[in-house]
Amino acid sequence: RNFAEFLLPDALMRGLEKEGFETPTEVQAQVIPAAMEGLDLLVSAATGSGKTAAFLLPIMERLVGAPRSDSGTRALVLVPTRELARQIHVHFTRLGSYTRLNNGVITGGDSKAHQIATLRKNPEILVATPGRMLELLEKGEADLSDLEILVLDEADRMLDMGFVDDVLTIIARTNPARQSMLFSATLHHRGLSRITEPLLREPRVLTI
Ligand code: AMP
Repeated sequence: RNFAEFLLPDALMRGLEKEGFETPTEVQAQVIPAAMEGLDLLVSAATGSGKTAAFLLPIMERLVGAPRSDSGTRALVLVPTRELARQIHVHFTRLGSYTRLNNGVITGGDSKAHQIATLRKNPEILVATPGRMLELLEKGEADLSDLEILVLDEADRMLDMGFVDDVLTIIARTNPARQSMLFSATLHHRGLSRITEPLLREPRVLTI
């Protein structure tokens, strides 16, 4: 098994080299090809499994392959905590070093003015926690009507933290033609179907 199998753009292969990733993990081997086919995915994967690169690489592959200058946010990763948002941002920055893609982090507890300034630069990818994302959407500072890919990471934790209504409102404001992926440590969480039903269309279920 090798990252070369996925036929990723050269810029991303160089990003992988920079990260020091040589062999795909199990979740990467399953998720990357399915996501590159455009399928909706429902994935059970634990922290530490390599799930971040499993969704970041297909997102970047799509955006690098079809550049657009006229759109708002093209990909959104919703996460339960600021810490996770930071980690994903760092990961993205390294993997995407050789692309021209930008990402913005939108989380509670940090300066709203700074985040509004970030949004006005039109980053292709946003990593966000639900409360602040919704607040900025409702202020008209963010626009998800052109969104191409939506990822919910650690969805079980988002449910436990009481974000379900915010998440549902955000989903309803995104482009219905988007591709969606949901990652959760377990697929047996009560309440998960409240999110999977509006989010996913005929998803492929991957249990790692
Ligand atoms: P994650 O589950 O995405 O938080 O990743 C867990 C850890 O595994 C992180 O420190 C990653 O940098 C590392 N990692 C992810 N994918 C690979 C890979 N293919 N090869 C080596 N390390 C990896």
